[in-house]
Amino acid sequence: PQSPWGRFDPYDSPEDQDKEYVGFATLPNQVHRKTVKKGFTFTLMVAGESGLGKSTLINSLFLTDLYKDRKVPNAEERISQTVDIVKHGVSIEEKGIKLRLTIIDTPGLGDAVDNAGSWRQIEDYIDQQFEQYFRDESGLNRRNIQDNRVHCCLYFISPFGHGLRPLDVECMKAVHEKVNLVPVLAKADGLTQAEVCRKKMKIREEIKRFGINIYQFPECDSDEDEDFKTHDQMLKDSIPFAVIGSNVQVESNGRKFRGRAYPWGVVEVENPAHSDFLLLRNMLVRTHMQDLKDVTRETHYENFRAHCIQNMTRMVVQERKRSLRERYRDGNEADLPLPLAVVDTEKERLIFEKDEELRRMQEVLERIQGQMQHSHSGGC
Ligand code: GDP
Repeated sequence: PQSPWGRFDPYDSPEDQDKEYVGFATLPNQVHRKTVKKGFTFTLMVAGESGLGKSTLINSLFLTDLYKDRKVPNAEERISQTVDIVKHGVSIEEKGIKLRLTIIDTPGLGDAVDNAGSWRQIEDYIDQQFEQYFRDESGLNRRNIQDNRVHCCLYFISPFGHGLRPLDVECMKAVHEKVNLVPVLAKADGLTQAEVCRKKMKIREEIKRFGINIYQFPECDSDEDEDFKTHDQMLKDSIPFAVIGSNVQVESNGRKFRGRAYPWGVVEVENPAHSDFLLLRNMLVRTHMQDLKDVTRETHYENFRAHCIQNMTRMVVQERKRSLRERYRDGNEADLPLPLAVVDTEKERLIFEKDEELRRMQEVLERIQGQMQHSHSGGC
């Protein structure tokens, strides 16, 4: 068919103009243009013991200084810092693509005297963001909803312990159905390669034993090339990512890089032989950011939403049941009896059936009485 622009459709390339060409092949470009214009957002939470290098790693991951205004806290501030969740936001731009990154810094787990339930704040925060989104989504103005849902939680595990601490297990289990958990083995420069291997195996085994659901990388498509499959398998085998963070540049052999200098040598943050830092960054930013967002929306948020709707339905049914029961108890004849749908216990069901039987018998009696009155008043 002739295009509205005639032979020289401005959207077609010269080669396309000669072919049968409708033009929907440009759809990805349209989507691309629109999403680029809107920009991207990503919310990352960090959790774990304090002092494990959470802020340093975030700065290293995104080459920002998110915590630059963090001064040395006095005693009072230090206490409030450990009890509050702090939100940091930064806009990053790379080759014209804008990313609005939000980091949720959580209080150091295990810092308090009584740590029972210290993870509750983290769980509550995740729930509150879902709640807010649910409320906004059901509200009148659905156009400009600010999405603060947490897309990923980097959970820091101490390199000095023997695997997971009981508090780690409790915390991870409290949030594993609500957020994409990605475990990391912190400060890996303090461990030898053999120790890293051993600890990783132990942590993986414990994650499985305690039934903790961490973020599952999506299965590879069968038509993916071999390189992609190998990389994907390496990613899966690297859990928990052994990471090193640094906020400073060091110089060695005439090269400058982010690293840590020791009397016996230097460690390079971005050297794959030294840590899984690059693997983690590529996974978070280059390969799986969209999947993390999709799983948040399609699985974690959907579960929350279904749960909310179930609760609301239960409340409505209970309210209806209560008001019907009250009206029925008042003996108002115009009222309907309790419908079976709002009766749930066996005892209630029996009472309901008896009531129904009585009501039916009363109806029959009334009908007979009515007929008798009719015949007495001279009907026959
Ligand atoms: P946070 O409390 O978990 O945010 O920890 P920080 O990022 O403030 O780091 C606490 C201390 O650990 C600082 O002195 C950092 O320089 C140091 N640190 C951070 N990352 C690493 C690392 O990968 N290896 C080593 N050895 N030290 C680190």
